[in-house]
Amino acid sequence: MLLRIQPNESLRSYVDRNLLVNFMDWRVDRLRWLSEGEITHQAVKVIASTMGWEGCYGFNRLLHEHTQLPLQFVIRDTRDVTYSRTAYLKPRMAIINSDLHAYCPECVRQDVQNLGFSYWRRNFPDHVSVCATHNVVLLSTCPYCDQPFSSKGHNLDVMWRKCSGRHLGSAESVINLDEDALKRARFVEALCAFQFSISIHSAAAILSDKLRSLKKSAKRMKSEQTSMIELIDRISRNFEVKSFETFLINLECHPEEILQIIIYSYEAFDEFVVDLRDYDKELIPIESLWRNYGNGRYATTCRE
Ligand SMILES: [Zn+2]
Ligand SMILES: [Zn+2]
Repeated sequence: MLLRIQPNESLRSYVDRNLLVNFMDWRVDRLRWLSEGEITHQAVKVIASTMGWEGCYGFNRLLHEHTQLPLQFVIRDTRDVTYSRTAYLKPRMAIINSDLHAYCPECVRQDVQNLGFSYWRRNFPDHVSVCATHNVVLLSTCPYCDQPFSSKGHNLDVMWRKCSGRHLGSAESVINLDEDALKRARFVEALCAFQFSISIHSAAAILSDKLRSLKKSAKRMKSEQTSMIELIDRISRNFEVKSFETFLINLECHPEEILQIIIYSYEAFDEFVVDLRDYDKELIPIESLWRNYGNGRYATTCRE
């Protein structure tokens, strides 16, 4: 039997764990070619179908639950009915950054206690540097030999094979003292767990009001705030005057920047959700987009 994929487990972790533990299973042979190189869209399709998660639905579910792509796809132009736009039709394209991994020693210890083993979580190297649960600095290099956890350093099986006899869970935890880093980690986690899509149009309207009502005293913060207001107003304006295709093609939708502004404007993601629900009475479940894929011009629903 294939192993059960764990919550937030990275695709690379899932493949490597199967190859290590489950090498007798004939289905694992289908994953063997993925053990090296980048995880491409084709690789995601193969993993999904090997797991029995068929078609576009399974492909997008894996992207959403096990990669960093929610950062690009949850805050969205809701005129787009596909989850990952044309990704399903671009098999050779790689998932960015999927190679870099990091871990929290507290999570590893907790996993070993609860599950008997640990695994690698999907990572957000440009956004998250601490564990949102334990407020501990994530380790992206081995605490024993200093190699990075990527194809240029340790194979991920160091999680299960140990480094010179030492288990990664025996590493000391370093408490994070950077409040902004913790806040960012919590917002990213909450965004990934949010069950609905966030309309970029609604978010811009809410943030425009919110930013104007924020009282930031420091001069530096005031200029930061002004440039955020300008960006939000530009997005709103362009959204209203441009067709869906032009808006997307010109990449005028900036989900990651919008998330930064949400983090700047709110103390907790839930507070943003209260305003969002108030503004947007009919939120679209993210899952309802998983069956659809686009070819750049129109969307198709996959029947599988
Ligand atoms: Zn942790
Ligand atoms: Zn090592």
